[in-house]
Amino acid sequence: MPLIKCPECEHEILSRIGTICPKCGHMVGYFEGDKTRKKYGKFFAISLIIPFFSFVLIILASYTKTLLISASIIYVILAFISSPIRYRDIFFTNFEKIFFWGIWITANALLITMIYNLMSNYVR
Ligand SMILES: [Zn+2]
Repeated sequence: MPLIKCPECEHEILSRIGTICPKCGHMVGYFEGDKTRKKYGKFFAISLIIPFFSFVLIILASYTKTLLISASIIYVILAFISSPIRYRDIFFTNFEKIFFWGIWITANALLITMIYNLMSNYVR
């Protein structure tokens, strides 16, 4: 767990949310400004925006088979980029881990189903 300087008294404390500084009693808030928290915010945005973007992309690309295949390749890359595997170090609790994996798996299961259905229109 990374250490930060307490914003009140500069004493070194854990960057974990809810940590109380033993010297002055300051409690570490959600956006205390360290890198992990920024990464966390970025990941949170990514895990919401990427599935939505992929969805729109696939819908728009579904007019032709070539476009749909291209969109599917982009989708796979984006799914990897937004995978919680790449952000393992930012999860504080198991709940967060399960929560983000849950979002990722659900969103991708829906997108894969959609690609599969659209593809089958061209195969038939
Ligand atoms: Zn302090």
